Amino acid sequence: MSPGKHKDGYFTNVEIRVQAQKAMDLLNEFYPDEEHVFIYDNTTTHLKCPEGSLSATKMPKGASSKFFVEVNLHDENGAQVYSSTGAYVKQKIPMADTTFQGWPQPLYFPAGHALAGQFKGMTEILAERGINTTGKLAQCTGFKCAPPALNCCCCRILYNQLDFEYVKSSLELDCNERGFGLIFLPKFHCELNFIEQCWGYAKQLYHLNPESSREDALERNALAALDAIPLVSMCR
Ligand SMILES: [Zn+2]
Repeated sequence: MSPGKHKDGYFTNVEIRVQAQKAMDLLNEFYPDEEHVFIYDNTTTHLKCPEGSLSATKMPKGASSKFFVEVNLHDENGAQVYSSTGAYVKQKIPMADTTFQGWPQPLYFPAGHALAGQFKGMTEILAERGINTTGKLAQCTGFKCAPPALNCCCCRILYNQLDFEYVKSSLELDCNERGFGLIFLPKFHCELNFIEQCWGYAKQLYHLNPESSREDALERNALAALDAIPLVSMCR
């Protein structure tokens, strides 16, 4: 109820995913014969992808022993590890392998190869897909490719490949794994989300309460307002 670093923390992607698991438990228990689709606003908290997911934007053109993805270090319980100064401790992990036309495509050279363990680089990754990048830049300046931005540079070509274009979020992977659908609303159109009808209804009721600085009173009022939302107002 009290967001903040030294209070209850923030509602991050971790909490969103835990909440989705609980929602799926409830739906499986009470509505096991229906098909369920979750609708989420298009926000970074919801869209977070698994660490090390495919991304073309910072890849080197040639092979590299230094290309890894920097991620936050978590302990065995999944909690963030902090340094003595309170900063996030980071670690470097390889970018996840991908598939091309149904075949696995590792992004690092396999054991036994002369460059075993090194990142392949965009030229090699694209060559393995039958795409010749001779004479192409690694990336147009600032990745501001001129329209139609189809095959001007290696980075853009890779960026437009299906597997790079459609990287599933952790939330979507969680839902799909349990047989649930998920739709993200278009960016900046959270008004399309029917939950807004609920917030609107609850806020209206909440504002009728007298002002108070007591946290317990505010919490009670908030919960009462949320409890009072009729089902029909969610369906409008
Ligand atoms: Zn380009």
